[in-house]
Amino acid sequence: MHRDEAASFPAVVGVDGRARAAPPVAVPVASSEGPVGGLAGGYAVLVGGGLLDALGAMVVARGVGGRAVVVSDAHVAPLYGARVVAAIEGAGIAAGLVVVPAGEAAKSSAELERLWAAFGAGGLERGDTVVALGGGVVTDLAGFAAATWLRGVRLVNVPTSLLGMVDAAVGGKTGIDLAAGKNLAGAFHPPALVVADVVALATLPPAERREGLAELVKAAVIDGEAMLADLEAAAAGWLGAWAAGGRASRTDGGREDDALKAWIARAVAVKARIVGGDLREARGGPREALNLGHTFAHGLEAASGYALPHGQAVAIGLVAAARLAADLGEAPADLVDRLEALLGRLGLPTRWDVDASAVVAAMAHDKKRAGGALRFVLPRAPGDVVVRGGVPEAAVRGVLVGDGR
Ligand code: NAD
Repeated sequence: MHRDEAASFPAVVGVDGRARAAPPVAVPVASSEGPVGGLAGGYAVLVGGGLLDALGAMVVARGVGGRAVVVSDAHVAPLYGARVVAAIEGAGIAAGLVVVPAGEAAKSSAELERLWAAFGAGGLERGDTVVALGGGVVTDLAGFAAATWLRGVRLVNVPTSLLGMVDAAVGGKTGIDLAAGKNLAGAFHPPALVVADVVALATLPPAERREGLAELVKAAVIDGEAMLADLEAAAAGWLGAWAAGGRASRTDGGREDDALKAWIARAVAVKARIVGGDLREARGGPREALNLGHTFAHGLEAASGYALPHGQAVAIGLVAAARLAADLGEAPADLVDRLEALLGRLGLPTRWDVDASAVVAAMAHDKKRAGGALRFVLPRAPGDVVVRGGVPEAAVRGVLVGDGR
């Protein structure tokens, strides 16, 4: 079941996988109604409302046979595990459920071994399928287990966090954390299918919503003025309220769900476009753009002893990257103001009282460091990001010291 990796990129982004779907939202790829098989092996990312109950039919329609093991975490499994198992079994595929602990600590070699043991006990064979149901922790961990079990079995990602839907479940990277650092052991193992059901976001805690929104802002800056301006308008209204934990996503396919679907599809389309041109993150390749805000973020997270959540660190990092670009004369200062205002409306921090030396030291250990020099993705304007090496440390410190004021 070795798939042609070169063709394994998210070629299809569909909005609403239901048969009675409204006309597809305009994303720069085919709709979920399109012939997936005709798209050179690219995998479908289906975004819709009420998709969990239709999961069985969806996987069967895409040629998934054999048996399935659903991997989920201790928060998500009680909410959606039985429903997903029932949906898969309803389509004639025998399915079991394995539950891992919730939280980043589950991305460990110990949990990976537990999954391998469960796969062995269940007799999971080459033609069978691992279904990852949960946030980025579950899709990374279960994805790596799928990549390594019998040298690779099929993976279906069912992200349930916003971060999973817009980022972690799409792009083919899987992995676990080691004592020496995050995501150090892993594999590129593209899923056969990604199914994102916005109804599941109704139970996502507000702080976790904001984790995903930080990545949505990143996608908008990478994509361009139109997406950024649309996001600013949404953030000033319903999306700002949603970020604050206001109205939960509705289960009746109402307007808020439709808007969320459209935003997830847009973010996925941005990532799909970039990942499609750089499947294995070549040095200097297009995928580096996805690190926008992340060099600072990783430094901030490490310097905080990982007390600062990743999404918050990314928000601060996006503003820091814009400020660095402005200081280096690459970008106008108003981009900094725009990002501060947008992230603030989404309930995300844009400044942090930092010890600049600790952050710079942590950044120096960043695995994306090249030849001793730090590399930064700098936004020159919406839709125009560049990678710069050899940025003087004084300029980096200047941004961080300014941050602490
Ligand atoms: P997570 O998986 O820990 O989920 C966040 C929390 O929300 C958890 O407690 C989880 O149980 C809970 N949750 C998820 N869905 C829920 C729902 N619908 N209702 C109620 N609770 C729900 O974290 P995350 O933010 O989704 O993902 C972070 C992880 O993703 C990190 O480990 C990061 O390294 C990884 N990641 C991977 C990639 C990639 O390309 N592979 C990209 C970005 C991030």
